[in-house]
Amino acid sequence: MNMTESVKNVRNSNLGYPRIGANREWKKALERFWSNQIDEDQLTQELKTIRLAHLAKQKEKGIELIPVGDFTLYDHMLDTAAMFGLVPERFEYEGGEVSFATYFAMARGSKQAPACEMTKWFNTNYHYIVPEIGEDDPVLTVNRPLQAYLEAKRELQIEGKPVLIGPYTFVKLSKGYAASDFESVLNRFIPVYAVLLQQLEQAGAQWVQIDEPSLATSVSRAEMKLVAGLYERLAQAAPGLNVMLQTYFDAVDLYSELIRLPVCGIGLDFVHGGEENLKSLQEFGFPADKVLGAGVINGRNIWRSDLQDKLALLQTIAAIVPYGRLIVQPSCSLLHVPVSVRQEERLDETLRDALAFADEKLDELSVLKQAVNEGAESVTAALQSSRAALDRLAQSPWRKERQDLTARLAEQPSSRHLPFHEREAIQRDKWQLPPLPTTTIGSFPQTKEIRRARQLWRKGEWSAEQYDLFMKEQIREWIRLQEEIGLDVLVHGEFERTDMVEFFGEKLAGFAFTQNGWVQSYGSRCVKPPIIFGDVRFVRPMTVGETLFAQSLTNKPVKGMLTGPVTILQWSFVRDDISNREVAYQIALALGKEIKALEQAGIEMIQVDEPALREGLPLKKEHWDEYLTWAVESFRLATSNVKDTTQIHTHMCYCEFHDIIDAIKALDADVISIETSRSHGELVASFETNVYDKGIGLGVYDIHSPRVPAKEEMVRMIERALRVLPAGLFWINPDCGLKTRGIEETVASLKVMVEATAEIRSRLEQYA
Ligand code: GLN
Ligand code: ZN
Repeated sequence: MNMTESVKNVRNSNLGYPRIGANREWKKALERFWSNQIDEDQLTQELKTIRLAHLAKQKEKGIELIPVGDFTLYDHMLDTAAMFGLVPERFEYEGGEVSFATYFAMARGSKQAPACEMTKWFNTNYHYIVPEIGEDDPVLTVNRPLQAYLEAKRELQIEGKPVLIGPYTFVKLSKGYAASDFESVLNRFIPVYAVLLQQLEQAGAQWVQIDEPSLATSVSRAEMKLVAGLYERLAQAAPGLNVMLQTYFDAVDLYSELIRLPVCGIGLDFVHGGEENLKSLQEFGFPADKVLGAGVINGRNIWRSDLQDKLALLQTIAAIVPYGRLIVQPSCSLLHVPVSVRQEERLDETLRDALAFADEKLDELSVLKQAVNEGAESVTAALQSSRAALDRLAQSPWRKERQDLTARLAEQPSSRHLPFHEREAIQRDKWQLPPLPTTTIGSFPQTKEIRRARQLWRKGEWSAEQYDLFMKEQIREWIRLQEEIGLDVLVHGEFERTDMVEFFGEKLAGFAFTQNGWVQSYGSRCVKPPIIFGDVRFVRPMTVGETLFAQSLTNKPVKGMLTGPVTILQWSFVRDDISNREVAYQIALALGKEIKALEQAGIEMIQVDEPALREGLPLKKEHWDEYLTWAVESFRLATSNVKDTTQIHTHMCYCEFHDIIDAIKALDADVISIETSRSHGELVASFETNVYDKGIGLGVYDIHSPRVPAKEEMVRMIERALRVLPAGLFWINPDCGLKTRGIEETVASLKVMVEATAEIRSRLEQYA
């Protein structure tokens, strides 16, 4: 190992940089390629330019260990799967390096084959493509980290730190094998990882960052033993390579075992689970032959760090691990934050001064390094200004004038007046829906025209009336289309919303919006999370106008459409001076007022989406209860103060359902729709052991892909679900909102859905 660093000098490092580019160049390039505006060579060239610019930026900002290979064509898990030739059989593949066409087919589906499943990356709002491990052994079809390493060296003379997903995490997050085969599957990956690392070693790489975030979940001792054996083998394969075993998102489980693994460095998160990690460090110490990657700058939130506090934290850590063996770094990859605050010109100054996005976080890492190596005096101004900015925000009226939450909570019921089975009878009577009612999740295609209209209106080129008229035309057209398709419960289409959280944030007090604060959600899809910086309050009705207008056009029921408190919280950047629980309750109370307003206007079927409920789950099971208790309570606070006849729907985008089924039941929603089509079989299987006795719709087709499914496919999906769920409470719907789809494929798919439903209805007695 390379231990020649000075004992006093601390180094700094980054774990990953946002791919999307300051102006989302990455996203735009991909989408131009998908729509055939540029070819593969042009795409490759454009991506290279973006990638190199990101590396140069990190160098310029004084980062010593610059990550390479964290860039991707779509997703880093998919990259890893493709690199190992793990292409499911339904895709075109004859071995060797996976082609762009096959790679993107796995990500997005193709005419011939549905896409791979996609799911949340730990407790973030990033989604990865779930690798499918088949019978075949993995092969190293191409060494991506090596390519990235060589490129950085050749083009920019940067001695990069290749980043890869570690085998433990990779296999943990993959599917296609039985849990009992975990060990043997893991072993099959040792040879490919060994060769990969050997090649990096031979090419002269110094450090390699192996990400093992799964080590921050609940890890059994038996599995830790496997991990030890695995890293033993990898250390033998490439003894000259400095492996930084990187964990993040929570404290590591089994700290004392972890620090004994045969690697050169261990990266710990000192922000999320930071207290626990620090306690372990102090209690059990740290091996003298290892380097500690100290993740002290929050890689997931957008607030500036109080650098004096961070410096103090580093000093505490340095009492155990001397600076010469410390690396200052973000708590995780900066993938989860926007690129730079510098582009924000419209934010209030007090707020803006308190923000740090990826580029500013890199600056913070450099200031900390300098403070240690050259003395705090050398960066006094930077140290003081960070604290002063945070103080100014704390003293601002948005934070100082607190509302009395306890009093407001006491006024708002958090359970429905009648239990579900009694409400159900009353609602059946009121709504008179056919068996297996068909509906959608809320949004319809956001076409170019819609986006253009919004832009014109935002720029002031269109008056509010003009914009309103345009939106009404969209609603009118889609009410017509929904009636023509033959859906039973209609929606207005959410055309006025760019984003399901932003829309509400813009209308509630306590939120701020960036101009350019995009982060990647999945593939080329980016979101711009609002910033919850002050107390959240209801100001005026937010959805009543559009919903009522839609309802005025049809005799069928139109569902009101809201985003739930937990999702608004999860998909925002949240103030960190009060608990998330408190913020969620504030949002819930505000949404409760919106629901009342809808009900009073005659909208009595209301969907409150909570697609992010699951991703908020803490990584460690022992913390689940606490989270789920306030998450469920928030939903109930928002939705309980309604008439018995009012039907509350909810929607969630996940397939792993069984482990939080009690919380889902406790929401007490009258109808829930869930996303399942990419893993339908598994979900249905989970209902074999879990009784669900409220209204439920399982997504019958995948909306993430432009493919129009065949009727038989949907019929099969429904039939399978009806084997385990009562037909009397079953709803038919697509997987999720349709806003990312084209009009044609949407109408075609929904028609197929209605036809499939009709076929099942015609022989309903079979499922009674
Ligand atoms: N109602 C939202 C929509 O249809 C739900 C989206 C989601 O759950 N992600 O777009
Ligand atoms: Zn969804």
